Amino acid sequence: MNSDVKLADVIDGKAFAAGLRGRIATLAARFEAEAGRKAGLAVVLVGEDPASQVYVRSKGKSTIEAGMASFEYKLPVDTDEATLLALVEQLNADPVVDGILVQLPLPAHLDEQKVIATISPDKDVDGFHVTNAGRLAVGQPGYVPCTPLGCLMLLKDKLGSLSGLEAVVIGRSNIVGKPMAQLLLAESCTITVAHSRTRNLPEVVRRADIVVAAVGRPEMVKADWIKPGATVIDVGINRVPGAVEGKTRLVGDVAYEDVRHVAGAITPVPGGVGPMTIAVLLRNALVAAYRHAGLELAPDAI
Ligand code: NDP
Repeated sequence: MNSDVKLADVIDGKAFAAGLRGRIATLAARFEAEAGRKAGLAVVLVGEDPASQVYVRSKGKSTIEAGMASFEYKLPVDTDEATLLALVEQLNADPVVDGILVQLPLPAHLDEQKVIATISPDKDVDGFHVTNAGRLAVGQPGYVPCTPLGCLMLLKDKLGSLSGLEAVVIGRSNIVGKPMAQLLLAESCTITVAHSRTRNLPEVVRRADIVVAAVGRPEMVKADWIKPGATVIDVGINRVPGAVEGKTRLVGDVAYEDVRHVAGAITPVPGGVGPMTIAVLLRNALVAAYRHAGLELAPDAI
């Protein structure tokens, strides 16, 4: 690599997420003063998957730090479907619960789609319910999955208007790739969604002013796939062997060290998209609270 080339700007998701949390805390305090109660987020965990336990703990802590109420429900791994659905219905009906999140993945005997379909779309702060996917597709207000919405916030913060830009999203999952493409389309980007059957992926990616990689393959996106000056958002979280034997490290889907010699801006892993996800979850829960209480919240307030 040519060492004279200017390195890409690093998009600091950690700093942006901290600012976002600050704005959320201010608006959560305003909500409490006006509504006479805290905005409330319920998180349901079934089983003892270690990664899920960490996420749920971190979500609960962040919710309380933002000045919101956190309701945690931990159910045993052998919980039957009827019990889980009854809890979701109870939370749907509870006026102090504004947002409901059921931590995925669920144990194999539980039907995730059925559980998601049972959450009230107006409390579905993860944005996974088909009603919210439909609202996003037709441009109605709803709830957008947290990770792609966080990516969009970083992109708009860095680039301002995205109108007319070529965007390539690699990955077509319901939780990242598809909603990301919808959000970029709504910003008037020209969108390509690539996936495992895409032919000549490097050539497709080279068209892009904006690349969003959401694949789950360590450092798959190489420097010679990137148009000089492009903005690269790396959603991937992959654990690979570290320099010290027995230790692992996190890498994204983008070959960061090489790509930063070509891109104009790039998110690091860790410290890029990752910190945005919980911050946007809190944002969605707070928006839900304002809507439920019938209180005004300017669209660009958070
Ligand atoms: P999925 O496994 O659901 O989707 C992966 C997508 O990548 C699929 O659409 C798949 O295509 C595509 N893909 C797989 N291999 C290739 C290939 N060789 N070339 C092109 N496309 C390929 O993953 P998610 O969307 O849930 O997550 C993607 C990554 O983002 C993961 O690393 C995950 O850990 C991370 N993630 C990070 C979050 C964060 O907070 N930062 C939150 C959520 C996810 P096909 O559909 O054809 O199979």
